[in-house]
This record gives sequence, C-alpha cells and structure tokens, in this order.
Amino acid sequence: MSDSPKLQLQQLIALQGMDDEIAEHNKLLAEIPLQINAGSADLEEKKKILSIAKEEIDALQKKRKGIESEVQGENDHMAKAKTKLPAVKTNKEYTAILSEVDAIKKKVSDLEDKELEIMEILEEKQKVIPGIETKCKEEDASFQSYKAKKDTELARMKQELDSLLAKRENVSGQLERVIMQRYEKVAKSREGRAVVKLRGSICQGCFQQILPQIVINVKVGESIQQCSNCIRFLYWEEVPEAATPK
Ligand SMILES: [Zn+2]
Repeated sequence: MSDSPKLQLQQLIALQGMDDEIAEHNKLLAEIPLQINAGSADLEEKKKILSIAKEEIDALQKKRKGIESEVQGENDHMAKAKTKLPAVKTNKEYTAILSEVDAIKKKVSDLEDKELEIMEILEEKQKVIPGIETKCKEEDASFQSYKAKKDTELARMKQELDSLLAKRENVSGQLERVIMQRYEKVAKSREGRAVVKLRGSICQGCFQQILPQIVINVKVGESIQQCSNCIRFLYWEEVPEAATPK
C-alpha cells in the first residue's frame, strides 16, 4: 500500500459516504418490517370489528331461537290445559283453567314482544355487516399492496446494502491499515461520522476552531489531518464564495 495521502483522503471521504449510506440502509431495513406489522395490526383491528359484529348477531339469533322454543312450550302447555275443559264439573274448576290459559296467553304475548324487539335489533345489526365487510375487503387489498411494495423495497434495500458492503470492502482494502484502523476507531466514538468538512476554520464535526497551520494543511490536501478536538478526519471542499455561510 503506497497510495499518496491525497488518494487516501479521497478514499476516506468515499468510505464515509458509503458508511452513511450503509447506516441509512440498515435503519430502513429495521424500520420496514415494523411498518408492515403496523399495517397488519390496523387490518386485524378492522377484522376484529367484523367478527365482533357477527358474534353479536349469532348471540341474538340464539336468543331468538330460545324464545321461540319457549313460546312453543307455552303453547303446548296451553293446549294441554284446554284438553281438561270437557271434563270440568264445577264453575270454579272452569274458571281456574281459564285463568291458567289467560296467564299462558299473557306469557306468550310477552315472549313474542321480546322476540320482536330482538328481531328489530337483529335487522339493524345485519344492515351494517355488508358495509363492514366491504371496508375489510378494501383494507385487506390495500394492505396487501402496501406489503408487496414494502417487500419489494426491503429486497431492493438488501441488494443495495450487499453492493455497498462489497464496495466498502474494496475501498477499505485500498486504505493503509493504520488509517483504516484510525477511521474505524473515530467512527465508533463519533456515531459513525469520522470524516467531516472544514468550513472556514471550523471543524464541521465539533464546530471548534482549527489551528491555522492545520487549516492550511487541510486546504492543501496533501496530508491526512484530524481535528485536534474531536479527532475526526478533515477535508476541504471548494465552494463558490456566495454559498459559504458567514
Ligand atoms: Zn472537530
């Protein structure tokens, strides 16, 4: 390895660019599955609303059937009471049977009122089901296309990451081992930002003033220079005067 410091510096800048991209890719690769999960949770929520509505309808239908069989039982009871009538001997017995029949009629009528009430509620509940079902289908379709899009994005990110890692491997192999080690060390201690611009005489990593001699060296760009404060590598990039913030 006998590349000039100038070339090494260019490789350091390239390396930083790649590491920024790699970090961005890793962040997205971690985020995308979470985004897919959140989308699926929304869909599950909608499906749950539908299943609860259906369960309520089932319960009401069961209740209605229960009332119907109760009515059937009362009607049987009434028919049995009426069969006793021809054998009645006294007025008192007759009145007793009639009042029993009346009581049963009252019970049946109450039960039928209750059934009617349930039927009305059922009708209301059944009316909203198609709307919820349509909504669920739409949500499902939109989730499926969202997921397909995210899966494609994920696959693309993985592919890009692989190619970035290969490029990084190539560049890091060209750097002098000692400089590469220094880079890794600085990156580790500075949240991944090991190579920064010098602007004016200010390090853009820690925003401290750099010594004039170092500033000159950085501007010349023929040596590898590090900020004495944050130890990041420094480079100079010519920018048009107007674009330089004061
Ligand atoms: Zn600095």
